Amino acid sequence: MIKPIIAANWKMNKTVSEAIDFVNRMKKFVLGINDREVVIAPPFPALYPVGAVLKDSGMSLAAQNLGAYKEGAYTGEISARMLVDVGCTHVIVGHSERRTLFGESNEIVNAKIGMALQFGMRPIVCIGETLQDREAGKTFDVIERQIKEGLNQVAVYDIGQTIIAYEPVWAIGTGKTATTGQAGEAHAFIRQLMEELYGKGPAGRLPILYGGSVNPENIGKLMAQPDINGALVGGASLDVETFGKIVTF
Ligand code: PEP
Repeated sequence: MIKPIIAANWKMNKTVSEAIDFVNRMKKFVLGINDREVVIAPPFPALYPVGAVLKDSGMSLAAQNLGAYKEGAYTGEISARMLVDVGCTHVIVGHSERRTLFGESNEIVNAKIGMALQFGMRPIVCIGETLQDREAGKTFDVIERQIKEGLNQVAVYDIGQTIIAYEPVWAIGTGKTATTGQAGEAHAFIRQLMEELYGKGPAGRLPILYGGSVNPENIGKLMAQPDINGALVGGASLDVETFGKIVTF
């Protein structure tokens, strides 16, 4: 059994005080819940103070991105070591907004995954096809390349720390959710590919999250799919009552 993971990706939203207020109000929803993991990914300035509030709350702290290098003359970048220092246990890597707006290639994503793993954080590796890819019948080719190149040189013992988030780009922030059939098919493909690459055991224990316009209405149906082990939630994670409903689906 894979413990479900529900992760909030706030993107470039919330000041420090808004972030602290949110997590304090979130505590009532996770109180006594042990059968799922809740991860909160605030923007960088809020990581340290939010991490302090999350201590002993049962929720985990994630960054939304990290630098591909260990340290040095990389102005504006934030290293894996710095993220661990402020309490991050998880980090989102290769979100489609990073790939499309900031030119992150599979090679860069691969370097970032390596950094996260080296410093003991669980990378939440985002993959997924664009609408153009889907319409051209390339969904599985794109996913396969993102996995093979993104996880290049990632050892089998590190797969136990890795989380994959399947996020069809056309479903992110659009209000369009993949049908359970589309999501289920993609998740089954990812599981099968990971099995070929890493073996049945590690692939069977790998959490594969779904992301793309998840909301309180569709979370139950998505989570009922056999290969969906959680959700990465953007827009609907910004309101505490809405995200609370998703977490307690
Ligand atoms: C995301 O940003 O990872 C995401 C899934 O966004 P949304 O839930 O808003 O579609």
